[in-house]
Amino acid sequence: MLLLFFIGILGSKQAGASGAIFGMISIVFIFFCVILHEMGHSLMAIRYGIDVKDIVLLPIGGVSRMEEIPEDPKKEITISVVGPLVSFGLALLFFLIAKTTGQSISFKTLSLFGGNLVANLFWINLILGTFNLIPAFPMDGGRVLRGILSTSMDSLRATKIAVNVGQVFAIFLFFFGIFFNWWMALIAIFIYLGAEGEERMVALRTTLGKSPVKLAMITDVHTISPGQTVGQVLENICHGFQQDFPVVERGEVVGILTKEAIFSALHKHEKSALVRDVMQKEFVSTTEDASLSDIFKKMTTEKLSVMPVMKGKELRGMINLEQIGKYHMICQEGG
Ligand SMILES: [Zn+2]
Repeated sequence: MLLLFFIGILGSKQAGASGAIFGMISIVFIFFCVILHEMGHSLMAIRYGIDVKDIVLLPIGGVSRMEEIPEDPKKEITISVVGPLVSFGLALLFFLIAKTTGQSISFKTLSLFGGNLVANLFWINLILGTFNLIPAFPMDGGRVLRGILSTSMDSLRATKIAVNVGQVFAIFLFFFGIFFNWWMALIAIFIYLGAEGEERMVALRTTLGKSPVKLAMITDVHTISPGQTVGQVLENICHGFQQDFPVVERGEVVGILTKEAIFSALHKHEKSALVRDVMQKEFVSTTEDASLSDIFKKMTTEKLSVMPVMKGKELRGMINLEQIGKYHMICQEGG
């Protein structure tokens, strides 16, 4: 909505009210084409049984957020190629509309704030398809490259190579951009950071791979009881490392108390409020043998800060994102 508003203002400055309206209509159509491109990726991924969380629209394009990277490189290649194919298909469609209605598709008259909408959409889809095939992360071409490399090496190495190609490209684009087109320089920064994020994500998934929760959980857990006061727990936080606490009553975990819950309780209650009244009674727990990568996924998607690790009703340890990150770092150092 902000982009639409911004384009409207820009259009009215350049070509008055008609420029503003034309610009806003163009942007709506362009984003509709971007959505179709992303739907191409998403529907193909869903066909392969991969969960697609959502499609995020950014001023520089769209992103389909998928739960995982397909194990089979061929699937990743297919999912990545479908998007640009949709864009080329749309370009062809607008080309045919222009031809049959006798409209010019000259590149020279191209403007966001006037001219020919059909010609604009033809060019934009052509550029969208082509630009996305550049073999640089996080563009579709980068994924195709990784997919191709993955057929002959492990996915982490393939990702690293594809990321490096993407970053070298981003650096060139950045310098080209600051001399010729600021917009390009901005896109280059997005590409560089996106590539880095992709590498981090894959590295994390690879080391977490099949490791069980047992290897990363805190075993020396300080527990609290429902009858303690918030003030007493606050003391624990001040003088210890632990910030989230399992609440145990007669050997059984009856709730958890997170740092956030303690601070929000302090806004509403006295320090003398009892743990039993402010603790979280409903909580998600895990087991020692659960896979760390599954738990990592669950904690990030469901925004859980901590999970008690249980064996039946017995508390065995505790796991949080910090521990997972620590485990990942130690594993990487150890090769
Ligand atoms: Zn795409």
